[in-house]
Amino acid sequence: MTSRTFAAFLQRSLEELKEQGLYNTIEPLEGPNGPTIAIRGRELVNLSSNNYLGLATDERLVEAAVRAARTWGAGSGAVRTINGTLRLHEELEEKLAAFKGTEAAVSFPSGFACNMAAISAVMGPGDAILSDELNHASIIDGIRLTKSTTIRYRHSDMDDLRAKAREARDSGKYEKIMVVTDGVFSMDGDVAKLPDIVDIADAHDLIVYVDDAHGSGVLGGGAGTAKHFGLSDKIDLQIGTLSKAVGVVGGYVAGSRELVDWLKARSRPFLFSTALPPAAVGASIAAIELLQESRELQERLWRNAAYLQQGLRELGFSVGATETPITPCMIGNEETTQLFSRRLYEEGVYAKAIVFPTVPRGTGRVRNMPSAAHTTELLDAALAAYAKVGRELRLIP
Ligand SMILES: *Cc1c(COP(=O)(O)O)cnc(C)c1O
Repeated sequence: MTSRTFAAFLQRSLEELKEQGLYNTIEPLEGPNGPTIAIRGRELVNLSSNNYLGLATDERLVEAAVRAARTWGAGSGAVRTINGTLRLHEELEEKLAAFKGTEAAVSFPSGFACNMAAISAVMGPGDAILSDELNHASIIDGIRLTKSTTIRYRHSDMDDLRAKAREARDSGKYEKIMVVTDGVFSMDGDVAKLPDIVDIADAHDLIVYVDDAHGSGVLGGGAGTAKHFGLSDKIDLQIGTLSKAVGVVGGYVAGSRELVDWLKARSRPFLFSTALPPAAVGASIAAIELLQESRELQERLWRNAAYLQQGLRELGFSVGATETPITPCMIGNEETTQLFSRRLYEEGVYAKAIVFPTVPRGTGRVRNMPSAAHTTELLDAALAAYAKVGRELRLIP
C-alpha cells in the first residue's frame, strides 16, 4: 500500500467495527444453498436464504442454464446497447412482461442495479421523491443519484404520506413527484399498503414505484404485490428481482412500453454494464415458465411458512407484523438476539440475527426464511431447536 493514511484508515475502521460487534464473519457453504446447507462439515437447516421456492437448486433451472450456456456462451460479450442484447434477453423480457401483466419489461444485472438505473433515469433536479423510511438500501442509493429532494415518510404511515404528498404538490416547487416503496419489507415481512398509496398518488399526481424484490414469486400468484392487490395497471414502475424467488440472479423493471424505451435509452447500468449472462437468462426463463404453469411451489411455500409461524407462536414467541413467509422471531435485546442465533447454529439451525442498526434498537430478531423446499421434518427440527434455546434463555415458558 503506498498510502500510510489509507492503511491506518482501514485498520482503525475494521477495529471499530469489531469493537461494536458489527463485523460479520462470512462462512462459505460447502455445497448448494438448499433447504439444508453444509458449513464446516456440518449439515444445518437453512432458514436464511431468499430462495423462497427452492428454485436455486432446481434441476430444471440447472438444465436450462447449461443449455443456454452451450448455445449462447458463458458471457453475453457487451453492454446491451452495443451488441450484448441476445435474442434470449428479449425472450426473457417478453415473458416477464406477460407474467407481470405490463406492456414491457427490461432486465438488469441485479435488483440493486435496477434501483440505481430506474430512479435516476426518471427523476432529476427539480423533482421530489417520497420514500418509506424502511426502504431497501438500493432504493436509498438510487435516490442519491437523482439530485431530487428526498422526503421520507414514516413506515407505511398513510396519513404521513398523504400530508407530505399534498404539501409537496401544493408547494409548487416540484415538477415530478414520485412515491417509492418496497412491496414487501424484508425485515418484518409486512406488505406495503398499495391501495392507499395508489389513492394518494391519484389525488396528487404521483409516480408510483414499487420495488417488489420480496413480493415477486411469492404474492399475487407469483406476479407480485401489485397483482395481489389487483393494481398492476396503476403502478408506474414495478421492480422485480431474478435473485430471490426466481432463484438465479438479475433484476427487471416492468411497466409501460414508453417507460421501458426510456430506460433502454437513458439508464446507466443498461448503457454501461454488461448484459446478464446466457446461463442466468436461460434459467430465469425456465423459472418464469414454471411459475406460470403451476402454483404448487407457492402453495407449498405458504403452507411451510404458516406451519413455522404457528409453531413459533405456540412455543410462546412473537413473529411480529409479518403477512408473508418472512418470519422474524422477535427477541428484543441485541446481545440476547446474537446469542440466540449462535445457540441455534450449535443446535443445527442456520437463522441470522438481525439487530440495530439494520432494525431499530431493542427490536432484535432472528429472521427465518422458510421455503417450498423445506420438509415438515426440517421445520420440526428447527422448532425443536427454538424450543430448547428459548427455554434455556428463559424467553418462553
Ligand atoms: C434484495 C433486494 C434488492 C436487491 O436485489 P438483487 O437482485 O439481490 O441485487 C433490491 N431491493 C429490495 C427491496 C431487496 O430486498
